[in-house]
Amino acid sequence: MHNLFEPRLVNDSFGDPGLYVDFRDERRALLFDLGDIAVLPPRKLMRLSHVFVTHAHMDHFSGFDHLLRVVLGRKAGVVLFGGPDFAAQVEHKLNAYTWNVVHRYEVELIIDVREIGTDGHGRRACFSSRARFARESCAPFELLDDVLHEETTFRVRGRFVDHDIPCLAYAIEEKARIKVGKDRLAALGLSTGSWLRDLKHAVLTGAPDETPIQVQWRDRDGEHAVTRRVSELRQLILDIVPGRRIGYVTDLRYTESNVQSLSQLLAGVDLLFIESVFLDEDRDHALRKNHLTAYQAGQIACQIGAKAVIPFHFSPRYEDRSAELIAEVHAAWSGPSAS
Ligand SMILES: [Zn+2]
Ligand SMILES: [Zn+2]
Repeated sequence: MHNLFEPRLVNDSFGDPGLYVDFRDERRALLFDLGDIAVLPPRKLMRLSHVFVTHAHMDHFSGFDHLLRVVLGRKAGVVLFGGPDFAAQVEHKLNAYTWNVVHRYEVELIIDVREIGTDGHGRRACFSSRARFARESCAPFELLDDVLHEETTFRVRGRFVDHDIPCLAYAIEEKARIKVGKDRLAALGLSTGSWLRDLKHAVLTGAPDETPIQVQWRDRDGEHAVTRRVSELRQLILDIVPGRRIGYVTDLRYTESNVQSLSQLLAGVDLLFIESVFLDEDRDHALRKNHLTAYQAGQIACQIGAKAVIPFHFSPRYEDRSAELIAEVHAAWSGPSAS
């Protein structure tokens, strides 16, 4: 089935963490974490509308400069999300450069920073190239429970986990999926065409029942066109099922409260990207470093009932042992039947 978005890790399992979530039909994308993003070509960075940072350790935030350099003078805006002190951290990065020319650039870049406090309140700061990236305060953004960002077709939720410092774990949730009953379509004497996209969009955006859909297609008998109401087509040919949910979890230690937070965020998630930094034989070291072992990552995947798991953020000390890390995750998760 056609997916609303396609998530893909930015780097290999030993590289900096990052997840690029491509909304191909909309020619836009989301990015989770902003470490080394050099492998993403400029055209992919230009598509980013929102970037969600887990925490500001260098391997998760040092790519800010690269992103800024690519979009500056070319893109109108980007929204960044992060945890406590995030707005100040962005401000410090911007203050590290000299901006005596950017206010004259034709395309104004606005960096809209949304900071999530551990108290559950949202704060906001904006930085415009026209104002040489001086910090401007703007209306705070409202958090509805753990929903950080919401659009017609999807939402992004976030909850803090403990990594010695607060670190955000994220859920990307498609609100609904629409399946087209091709056999029922044929029984009605209709055929597929680009009108199906209009119909799906109308349904997902909650268009009124009487909204007309121009049903057009071409076959060997020539062009065909009829008009049907959204409600009629929805009832006759569409099945609406729950949307796909994806988890992005990295940089945390194995504690009961972390597992609990992740269960609240990600119970039954379809696909879980989760850090698996150390082998379980180095469990004490993992705890000191505030990270998970691969076995612990698999346990979490099992406890929250993840239907599929992709481990990442492997420590370079296991450079030739990635198969062991992956095997450990899968042994503890033990497949979909465990949920
Ligand atoms: Zn990290
Ligand atoms: Zn970290």
